[in-house]
Amino acid sequence: MYFGVDIGGTTIKLGRFQGEGVLQEKWEIPTRIGENGKYIFDDIAASILNHAVQAGLHPSEIRGVGMGIPGPVLPDGYMEVGVNIGVREIYPSKELSKRLGIPLICCENDANVAALGESWKGGGAGFRSMFLLTIGTGVGGGAVLDGKVRKGAHGIAGEIGHITVRLDETETCNCGNRGCLEQYASATGIVREAKRVLMGTTRPSVLREIRNLTAKDVMDAAKAGDPLALGVAEDVGGYLAWAMSSVSYIVDPEVFVIGGGVSAAGEFLIDLIRKKYDVMTKLLYHKAEIRLATLGNEAGIYGAVRLVLG
Ligand code: ZN
Repeated sequence: MYFGVDIGGTTIKLGRFQGEGVLQEKWEIPTRIGENGKYIFDDIAASILNHAVQAGLHPSEIRGVGMGIPGPVLPDGYMEVGVNIGVREIYPSKELSKRLGIPLICCENDANVAALGESWKGGGAGFRSMFLLTIGTGVGGGAVLDGKVRKGAHGIAGEIGHITVRLDETETCNCGNRGCLEQYASATGIVREAKRVLMGTTRPSVLREIRNLTAKDVMDAAKAGDPLALGVAEDVGGYLAWAMSSVSYIVDPEVFVIGGGVSAAGEFLIDLIRKKYDVMTKLLYHKAEIRLATLGNEAGIYGAVRLVLG
């Protein structure tokens, strides 16, 4: 019996798995921030033990627990800071190991863990190398090459959201740079771009009628053929393709898997990216596949268990 844990800023997702990745049950608990993560690890341990007992298992039958955590985790398991969950200078796997009394606990950055999950049981299953893009509030990513997550020497490998795709940007990205992919292709970025275009022209658009515009509104209007929204969506596809073609020229994955809230735009988004990506990768005769993620918010718990299985 294995457990997969995906720690987020507001909730912690957990899953109980049998053997080689068969999900038996999943549930969520709230993330209690404070005391440098003390409650987070207390709550995870208590919840795992509770569910193990309810499933008729003795705690000694827990073979391992994998965790995804928001923030960079160094190769030795040390985490300097996890801003969203209020932890600093800890070894997350040791914290949980102390409480559960079992040695096999693995912990990795959550984006990398989600990439591992999609590559194992999701949109990247069956491919040896995959790059996951998670397009939500921000744009994250992770590279899984030959079955292994690539973290890089400093833990930022895969952070595709902060590749510079525009040089004329005046606003600053969360990272401090200007012109990052995330500023245009994230859910917030799509809305911002749509508003910029709306402000700069008197052209008619259904988007003008919408209060509290969302990225979904923009993508839906683009799908329905609204020319202004379509222009914004095409630009988003172009920026994504630009960053993805850079990834191809560096690690050449077999497949890109697109997940996160914005990927709900489905094949429409894939087609927008595909058109530009194909033009930008002239040297590639066999182009990378571009597919949608399939695990949704379960990618993290699957990847966490894959982490423990090694
Ligand atoms: Zn940035």
